[in-house]
Parts: sequence; structure tokens; C-alpha cells
Amino acid sequence: MVRMQASPYPMVSVEDAIELVLARARVLGSQNIDITEALGRVLAEGVIAVDDMPPFDAAAVDGYAVIGADGAQPRQVLSEITAGFAEERSVESGTAMRIMTGAPLPGGADSVVMVEQTTETDGMVTLASRPRQGDNVHRRGQDVRVGQEVLTPGTVLGAADIGLLATVGRTRVQVYRRPVVAVLSTGDELVEPDQALRPGAIRDSNRYALLASVREAGGEPISLGQVRDDEAEQEALIREGLRRADVVLTSGGVSVGSRDLIKPILRRIGTILFGRVAFKPGKPTTFATVDDRLVFGLPGFPVSSLVSFEAFVRPALRKMQGHRRVHRPRIRVVLEHPVTPSADRTELQRAVVRWHEGRLVARSTGVQRSSRLLSLVGANALLWIPPGTELLPAGAGIDALLVGEIISDNGA
Ligand code: AMP
Ligand code: MG
Repeated sequence: MVRMQASPYPMVSVEDAIELVLARARVLGSQNIDITEALGRVLAEGVIAVDDMPPFDAAAVDGYAVIGADGAQPRQVLSEITAGFAEERSVESGTAMRIMTGAPLPGGADSVVMVEQTTETDGMVTLASRPRQGDNVHRRGQDVRVGQEVLTPGTVLGAADIGLLATVGRTRVQVYRRPVVAVLSTGDELVEPDQALRPGAIRDSNRYALLASVREAGGEPISLGQVRDDEAEQEALIREGLRRADVVLTSGGVSVGSRDLIKPILRRIGTILFGRVAFKPGKPTTFATVDDRLVFGLPGFPVSSLVSFEAFVRPALRKMQGHRRVHRPRIRVVLEHPVTPSADRTELQRAVVRWHEGRLVARSTGVQRSSRLLSLVGANALLWIPPGTELLPAGAGIDALLVGEIISDNGA
């Protein structure tokens, strides 16, 4: 008797799969957080300056506040103004005030002469040249105008943006919420990394790698632990994940083996959008929704689960937290060696991309077997190899997703 092993799920293309996922991933609500916690978060509001910056005309250098029209003649030094203090008196014709960078320009003065171009003796200052009006004055509102929108919604907050928030007097800011992502490992063979390997067992690496990937993608990971290949136990933990998180990731149990139970569970409790993708590594990757929650059944093989995360889960997590750019930068690289495409699947090959003699070149990280986690170690790119039958020769150009920093010619 011939037993049918074929999957009942139609094969979808990688592009269609990504579109199906992004169509279901909604931008989450926003929350108010302290700016010290805001690095990498996405702004959910526009930020308006409530005053000018600088708030007053200020000295841009250490020197003397003078009246330009007085020319190069010696002037009487009236006083000294340091940053943080305002001087009540005004500079009048024939006088000057010693002034430090950042101090408010006193009344009457219209320029500052750098200390390096002056000599002061017995209370009189002599200038090396005629000052020009406006020299070395940092005008009120020159950097930021009151009422100006300094940051727009959707900005990914970096160091400079956080500095700007502080500049305009904001200590708290409205940002999109991070998706909470629950991660579950399935498999009778799994033990915790600190447990002894009984016969037939392997250590659970996927949960740790996926928890880290979630964090890297800006999500808030929670662990649901590991579960045996038991339908009731797996369903109970997936349901717990659905209660506690926006997204649930499982690893293992999505192929057509007798102990692959994830698809039947998801079909029963939710809607499966795809159960097979023309994708290598990670053909059995499964995507379902349960109410407004997303569930990804990732393959068990360590490389497959991480590369499938990269292809399908990460863009969703980015969209949910308000990112406008949900995808990794896609760049064109030159192959350093020939590559054989898969006949019928888009393959994401792990590679190292470096800047070499004026172009970006890519070298595969070695054997691409989906169990070989080492093929991901050191990889900074995933070569996007469309299905085909023609060998891609060395020197051919190909698209790559940049997942890490580009390496320069000198190895830095
Ligand atoms: P499965 O998809 O459940 O058939 O698993 C495919 C392969 O991935 C098997 O060799 C599993 O032992 C392995 N595998 C499954 N889950 C994990 C995990 N959490 N960590 C490491 N390897 C795993
Ligand atoms: Mg399994």
C-alpha cells in the first residue's frame, strides 16, 4: 500500500508568505515612557519645540563681547560673563565685557572677538583686527525655533533624537508598544542545555536563539519552556502564549512526521494562512492567526527556525512596533564563488559580505545544512537566491539581506 505523505497545504512563494504575514500584523498601541528607556523605540507622536534654542543670543567662543562699529580701538573691560549667568549692564561704545562660550550676550554688544585675537592689559583690551557685526554670536532660535516640529512620528529614536527630546524639555515620550512574543520548543527529544544527554536526546537550542532574535527585533520575549510531542500539552501551552503575548512562536513539529502536531492544533484553534513555503531552509513554516494574535510554527532544524524567523517573523514584529522600514536593507553583492540555486525554492544562504576593492563581495559561510547552526555564526548577510536551474558563476551579482555590519577591506 502506498501511504500518501504529501502535505495538504498549498505551496506559497516567499513573497506571498511575507505579504500574508504583513497583512495580519497590526501596529500596536502606544505608551508613554521615560526618555532614558527610549533608545531604539519608534515615536508615536510629533515633538514640538516649546522654546527657541538657544533661548538667547549667546557667545559661540570665549572672548570679548563688543560693539562691532567701534572698530579696532582699545576698549575698557567692564566685567566678565560666564555661562549660566545673565549680565544686567550693557556694553557701550568704547567698552567690552569678557564673555565665555554659552554665556548670554549683554545688551549693546553685537559681536564676540575670540580671546586668541585679543590682549588685555590694565583693564583695557586690544583687538588684533576690526570685528564684524554678528561675529561669533549664536543667535536665539538659530538651531531650533519655538513651535517647530523637531521629531516626526515614526522616527526611530537614536542618541541624537533623545538629546533633542531633552533639549525641548521632554523627559517622557509617546512610543509604540513592543510586541510581547512567547516562545515554545516542541519535541520529545529535547532537554535543557544544562541537562545530561540521555540516549536520543539533544539540547534545546531553538528557544534560546529565538528569544534572542525576538529581543534583537525589538520585541519583548517570554519563554513558554519546552513541551513533549503531546497534542493536549502543546495546545495548553500555545493557549497560555496567546493569553500572555501578541505573538506565539513554536519550533519543531510542523513537518509531516507522525509526531508533528502543531498544524492540526492551529487548524483547530485558529486559521492557518499558510503551511508550506517555497523556501529553503524552512519549507514547513506555518503561519496562523487566533483572533488578533499571530502564531508562527517554525521548523525544528536550528538554521531553518532562525532563517524563517528572519524572513517572516521579524518583518511582522517590526511593523507591530511602528517601524516604517520593516525589512532588512537589501543590497546587491558580487559572488566570490559559484552558487547552485534550488530548482523550485527561494533559498536564503548565509554569507559574509565585505567591502573589497570598491565593491561588496559575498562568500558563503560553508555547508548550508539546516542543522548546522555554525553556518549562521559570523554571517552578516542572507543571499536571496531565486529558484532556478542555472549555476550562478563567481562574479555574478545577487541580492542579499544585510543582517549584520559590513566588514571593510582591512577586516574592521
Ligand atoms: P521537527 O521539525 O520537530 O521534526 O524537528 C526537526 C529537527 O530539528 C529534528 O532533528 C529535531 O531534533 C531538531 N529540533 C527540533 N527542535 C529543536 C530545538 N528546540 N533545538 C534544537 N534542535 C531542535
Ligand atoms: Mg519534533
